Amino acid sequence: MGCCDKTDLIPLEQARTQMLDVLTSCCSPQTLPLNEVDGMILAQDICAPLDIPPFDNSSMDGYAIDHASLISSSGIKIAGDSFAGHPFTGSCPVGEAVRIMTGAPLPAGTDTVIMQEEVERTGDQIQILSDYQQGQNVRPRGQDLKQGEKLLEQGNRLNARSIQLLASVGIDRVCVYRPLKVALLSSGDELKDPGSVLSAGEIFDSNRAGLKILLQRLHCECLDFGIIPDDKPQLRQAFLDANEQADVVISSGGVSVGEADYTRDVLQELGSIHFWKIALKPGKPFSFGKLPKAWFFGLPGNPVSAMVSFCQLVRPALDKLAGTSWQSPIQLQAKVTHPLRKQPGRTDYQRGYFFRDQQGKLCVTPASLQCSGAFRSMATANCFIVLPQEQGSIDTGQQVTVEPFDGVLS
Ligand code: AMP
Ligand code: MG
Repeated sequence: MGCCDKTDLIPLEQARTQMLDVLTSCCSPQTLPLNEVDGMILAQDICAPLDIPPFDNSSMDGYAIDHASLISSSGIKIAGDSFAGHPFTGSCPVGEAVRIMTGAPLPAGTDTVIMQEEVERTGDQIQILSDYQQGQNVRPRGQDLKQGEKLLEQGNRLNARSIQLLASVGIDRVCVYRPLKVALLSSGDELKDPGSVLSAGEIFDSNRAGLKILLQRLHCECLDFGIIPDDKPQLRQAFLDANEQADVVISSGGVSVGEADYTRDVLQELGSIHFWKIALKPGKPFSFGKLPKAWFFGLPGNPVSAMVSFCQLVRPALDKLAGTSWQSPIQLQAKVTHPLRKQPGRTDYQRGYFFRDQQGKLCVTPASLQCSGAFRSMATANCFIVLPQEQGSIDTGQQVTVEPFDGVLS
């Protein structure tokens, strides 16, 4: 990890890479039942302990036959039944059929299922009314998964789909990393909790409310350290307490270069924290480093900047610390409906609303107010409009890159 010259802006990618290079997973593994692991990260590779399906079975309600030995399609005797959970015992006699239900094992001596709609039944005999192919309507053993095949890899974040896959092979407990403990605090004398009465010059602390939800969506254990005033001893104590209790400390406000110097002094005194200027708009001031025990991320106080920096810098770091790797978000191209103002020099994450026009073409309307303190733009948007560092202003009708808000942000 290096520190930049004070006058230089670090490109976003470079800052992210520098951070990720020094971070490793810091969460111990634990074995938990499936109903407790949604959103947690697998600490082991999982292989299929058996074939799925475990036996040849029917994908239709109908009649199982042996394709090769059936001489006539009429006058076929029904030898018995195979129901799901109640297989036909023995072997189907040559030239006969077995009544079979969806999911029931294919009886020995059969290889094909005729669906019941294509059969006319009279008493204990059937006539097949249509053409049929050998093997039709049969789900062979191991069609979906072969025993020993890798199902899920270490580092995979579990969800309803992967948990159902584990259940389908009979696994009821898995080894996952314990959740990352994140202490969250806001710093600033002007901040008050929502619900309180504001005095002159005060504003509500909104960063903590939003960041707490983002942390919960990332399945972190969030420890709320509240609002810390701009006061050196109180800041020191708060950072020390947070450092003791958490793997990661995230603070917003008070860490801008040249401002609130005691915050900077306290952080540098307690650990090795680097104060970066990132070529990111909004979100230029950002600090990253290590308190005695916990990693530290200092976000800018301006609410849009805090959330953008969280998404672009802190989230990738949290993923790595939690035991998984960050996936860069999906980006799309869209036609911009209004001009965009931009100065070259920083990567912009403007807020926008993307939609399809009547011709089905992807378009994006930028939020009218793009200031870093105007949070309404975040709440009404559904995507970032990502404008590369050296890009200048953009005219209506040009193609731009949009990054739709994902499940964590929306
Ligand atoms: P700072 O980074 O402390 O210089 O703050 C930059 C701007 O963000 C100032 O207008 C602060 O009042 C505002 N701000 C700082 N922290 C918060 C917060 N937690 N919630 C809302 N606004 C904040
Ligand atoms: Mg401040």
